[in-house]
Amino acid sequence: MALERHDPPANGSAKPTTSPFSPDELQRVNKIRRDFVANVSHELKTPATSLKLLAESLEESLDEDPVQARLFAAQLKRETERLANLITDLLDLARLESQERTDYPTLVDVRGVLMTVLSGMRRVARRKDITLQWKRFGKAARYTVHGDETQLTSMFTNLVDNAVKYTPSGGRVEVTGGTEGGEIVISIADTGIGIPEGKLSRIFERFYRVDKARSKATGGTGLGLSIVKHIAENHGGRVTVESVPAEGTTFTVYLPRA
Ligand code: ADP
Repeated sequence: MALERHDPPANGSAKPTTSPFSPDELQRVNKIRRDFVANVSHELKTPATSLKLLAESLEESLDEDPVQARLFAAQLKRETERLANLITDLLDLARLESQERTDYPTLVDVRGVLMTVLSGMRRVARRKDITLQWKRFGKAARYTVHGDETQLTSMFTNLVDNAVKYTPSGGRVEVTGGTEGGEIVISIADTGIGIPEGKLSRIFERFYRVDKARSKATGGTGLGLSIVKHIAENHGGRVTVESVPAEGTTFTVYLPRA
């Protein structure tokens, strides 16, 4: 999902200007950039290699085995889609990582965002025979944040999508909304495969997957939760996770109320 741009102030005028970043901040941004490039080169190489192999196989089988050629073409299409998703997620994350916490002027109704996300996910859940429920929220006015609607939609889509993705058929995903003091608290709880305790602290790292093969099979990029964490923090909030393997996982997002 494409996100809106919130670039730091441009600093390219001829006249000497003061940098918007302190030396410490500059060092931090530069380190983020270096690590990012190293990770990205590695992650892009694998799909690029498989695209080349598939294109070669397709070329070789075109005349002799058109049925096989068709299979290679379908695989090529899937891998290309995966690479396109990866690039979109990477660009979103790069933008979010370089963005400082923003004071968003726009008021967003988090309840409305969730309703949109849930109705979009209903079909996917039904196809997997997963019950997708939400508990009724209170008055709309209680669920307003200063924020970016596109980012918030992306954050909740990632969490609900993961909950459905990592829950076997016949399971349940429940979304609950409430307020605690000055915060809006949204929980996404599933009855899925869960995450081993030793891995919980790493799942918000970019490209980290508990099970690489499973994540790849479900079209994951390993960037979703990293994007989620940045969006929550850019809104002055946070995200926590609790999980019991083979029982389920609950992600909870806290956002300051406007
Ligand atoms: P991916 O694209 O692989 O889903 P994410 O960043 O969204 O990447 O998630 C990182 C990893 O955290 C996943 O690969 C998966 O192992 C684990 N994970 C995320 N959400 C859940 C969940 N609801 N239940 C079980 N595991 C999860």
